[in-house]
Amino acid sequence: MRVLLGLAPADFNYFGTEEFSLPLGLGSMATYLDAAMGRQAEVKVLDGTNFSQTAFAKEIKRFNPSLAGFQSTIGNHKNTLLAGRIAKNSGAFVVLGGHNATFLYKEILQNREFIDGVIAYEAELPFQQLAKRISRKKPTNGVLGLVRKSKNGFVFPPAVVAHNLNLLPTINYDFFDLQRHFEKSAKAGFGSAINYYSGRGCVRRAASSIIAQKSTSHSFIPFEQFERTLASMNSCAFCGRMDMGNRIMDDGKVKKLLDALYFEKGVRFFWDVWDTYCPREGPKMVNGDETFRFFARIDEIDPAYIALQKKRFGKNILLQIGLESGSKETFSKMNKMIGLNKTQIFKRLLLLKKEGIRIDPSFVLGVEGESQKSLEETMRFIKQVISLGNVRWLLLSPLTLLPGSPFFKRFMSIPEMQRKYQGKDLLDAVEMNQDYLSLFSSVSRNEIIESIREIKESLPDGVRLGCKGITKKEGHKIGITTNKK
Ligand code: SF4
Repeated sequence: MRVLLGLAPADFNYFGTEEFSLPLGLGSMATYLDAAMGRQAEVKVLDGTNFSQTAFAKEIKRFNPSLAGFQSTIGNHKNTLLAGRIAKNSGAFVVLGGHNATFLYKEILQNREFIDGVIAYEAELPFQQLAKRISRKKPTNGVLGLVRKSKNGFVFPPAVVAHNLNLLPTINYDFFDLQRHFEKSAKAGFGSAINYYSGRGCVRRAASSIIAQKSTSHSFIPFEQFERTLASMNSCAFCGRMDMGNRIMDDGKVKKLLDALYFEKGVRFFWDVWDTYCPREGPKMVNGDETFRFFARIDEIDPAYIALQKKRFGKNILLQIGLESGSKETFSKMNKMIGLNKTQIFKRLLLLKKEGIRIDPSFVLGVEGESQKSLEETMRFIKQVISLGNVRWLLLSPLTLLPGSPFFKRFMSIPEMQRKYQGKDLLDAVEMNQDYLSLFSSVSRNEIIESIREIKESLPDGVRLGCKGITKKEGHKIGITTNKK
């Protein structure tokens, strides 16, 4: 059988990290499936960041899969649906997965008859089970994580899976078009750059979650319990992820992967995409002069953090830090729970500067309570941060209402918005953002875009700007371009 795993191109633009980012989830699923099925399955990963939608569609037709899985995001859902229809027309069994599809499984299955199912939460083991059933022409009932539509509603899986990362095979990066990827990363000035993960999950969500990593098996969470847990999590209000616990991969396994990528593939820039990377003692990971990029919270930055990271990863460290806002009021609405004021934050940023650590700070603009005054405060704060001189890239994004996030839930609790958006799976993120701003803030989207444009004009040479969730037209207005096709 031929199995396709695809990430469709985004249909509204995300500027920023595509130069060193590969769809690792799909690579992991492909590796796991390949290990289990060997010659019984020809597995292909199609990374839409390398294709226009037309070229992506052509590749699907050319491959002619009998099973296709697509990762849906709010930014690529329209193209994901187009891809799903093409795969269905070729006779494939089509499933969607990822955070966006999991939160919107009811809407997707009700609205899109050509989508056969949604795999909720993590998909390595579920997708493997599904491929085996389909290759043996067996029914799909009982496949972990798989939700399907029935005449009377939905057929739910017995449980979803939170994988033990040490029991998954190491991702085979040859499933990706590395040559094309490295051309992209080199063009952006990173040399051969790649992402990986040494853990999965989120510390914020771990406290309310229901699993800890077991040493000898994956964790299986009954579906009802999974949905209840998701609904009750106390997370950052803009965050649309779902995480059942915070899981760490053994250092030995991570080191082996990093060595292979360094020595065999020539990678010199590594990005650990574990969303809440946890610094810890362990073996030295650096081999030479490579750069390591991590997510970090500003409240964990202190001399001990820096010393530990340098000991393990060398001197070239880059931290993506979500500073989110320069206004106390809007920051508090984000429920990020960092108990620091701007002076304390600035001191920590100064410490990083002194230690030669570069930063990629990110901000979210236009959350509940945003006003001209709070926006100006944030702009002033951003300029102050830039003036430190160690900012490499700045991510300024209007709030995208991600399904499953607390901001999205609050928005959808307004009857007028329910009438407008409930039951839809293809959500217009820009229109929703405009509605959200008119309900919850006193600034407009145009004013936010204009503020970003002003910051762009004041950026010193060498500092790049990224914006998530903006249209091409807005990108032109701001003056940023992308090297995406
Ligand atoms: S943004 Fe907040 S809630 Fe979301 S994964 Fe990161 S720490 Fe967790």
